[in-house]
Amino acid sequence: MPNSEYTGIMLYAQLTRENYIHTVFFELLEKAHELSQKLGGAEISAVCFASPDSIEGFRGAFENMGVNKVYYFEDKRLQNYSTEYYSKLFTNLVNEVKPEILLIGATNQGRDLAPRISSALHTGLTADCIELDINEKGLLAATRPTFGGELMATILCKNYPQMATVRPNVFKVHNVNYHVNTEFIKKDTSILDSLTNHVEILEFKKTVENEINNLDNADIVVAGGMGLKNEKGFELLQKFAHKIGGIVGATRPAVENGLAPHSVQIGQTGKTVRPKIYIACGISGAVQHTVGMDKAEHIIAINNDPNAPIFDIADTGIVGDFFEIAQKYIEM
Ligand SMILES: Cc1cc2nc3c(=O)[nH]c(=O)nc-3n(C[C@H](O)[C@H](O)[C@H](O)COP(=O)(O)OP(=O)(O)OC[C@H]3O[C@@H](n4cnc5c(N)ncnc54)[C@H](O)[C@@H]3O)c2cc1C
Repeated sequence: MPNSEYTGIMLYAQLTRENYIHTVFFELLEKAHELSQKLGGAEISAVCFASPDSIEGFRGAFENMGVNKVYYFEDKRLQNYSTEYYSKLFTNLVNEVKPEILLIGATNQGRDLAPRISSALHTGLTADCIELDINEKGLLAATRPTFGGELMATILCKNYPQMATVRPNVFKVHNVNYHVNTEFIKKDTSILDSLTNHVEILEFKKTVENEINNLDNADIVVAGGMGLKNEKGFELLQKFAHKIGGIVGATRPAVENGLAPHSVQIGQTGKTVRPKIYIACGISGAVQHTVGMDKAEHIIAINNDPNAPIFDIADTGIVGDFFEIAQKYIEM
């Protein structure tokens, strides 16, 4: 049963290194509005770790997206993510505000932060959810794949806050204007004086992979599977993607066989993408892969087996040899 001591929905507004609010926050926020309505208009709050004097720059975004309250910490020591600092401040805040639901984006940072907060608060955390709802008892019903993706389990949490993480691109932003006057509440960071940060960050280096593979926001994803067979197949895929203006993705076996880096793996244990066009090349269409791409606007599948399951979800199916098709297209 709902615990009346805990009210409202709290979200983590992660700031990126380029100092903008991570898109997963806006995706979660859309869902939070839906949940709030089902809870009779629950207050929506956000938590933000900002560098000194920068919070004002985000006022418009929070107000337009209908965030009632922003709790923010401003401190030089919070400029880079720190497991110790962030999780301590976040946990203390949750203990004080007592939200009934706490949602965190399953980014690299969120995946580190969320379990630490849930274990410090002795509450449950449902990770990598693909749907969130409020059940008939007013509890958060968090759905995620289980048994290797064969089943969907809807999980309820016994303790409070009810925590869930959701990967980027799972929920859609509808760009509704929810305008409210957001209240900004600055929180004290003096407790950091008594903590030890065990990690010293010396330098950030952008990898070439990061620069060329912006898979999360790509309009066109051209993904390769084991049907491409080897490095030559993936070289052809890269050329094919380049010609189309797409970004390369891959299945897990392709990654495990060293044909593509893990950062471009799509599926249950990789990324979730939501491009306008997804071209699946030599991919069978296992559910563990399709959960990461089935929300693409248009799915094109190229496979030489007419019975491959990928054709069940494809909008356009091309039965044929990838090597021949890609080569012809590149030469056009
Ligand atoms: C717990 C768990 C988590 C997992 N997580 C993920 C995940 O995140 N992402 C993921 O992708 N998988 C994941 N998997 C693996 C998943 O179950 C499948 O094994 C995998 O997606 C299959 O990869 P594939 O389609 O590349 O290979 P295959 O299943 O081997 O399919 C290859 C396809 O290529 C076609 N083909 C062959 N030659 C050609 C050709 N010349 N031209 C065109 N088509 C051709 C074949 O007909 C076939 O359909 C996970 C599995 C488990 C158990």
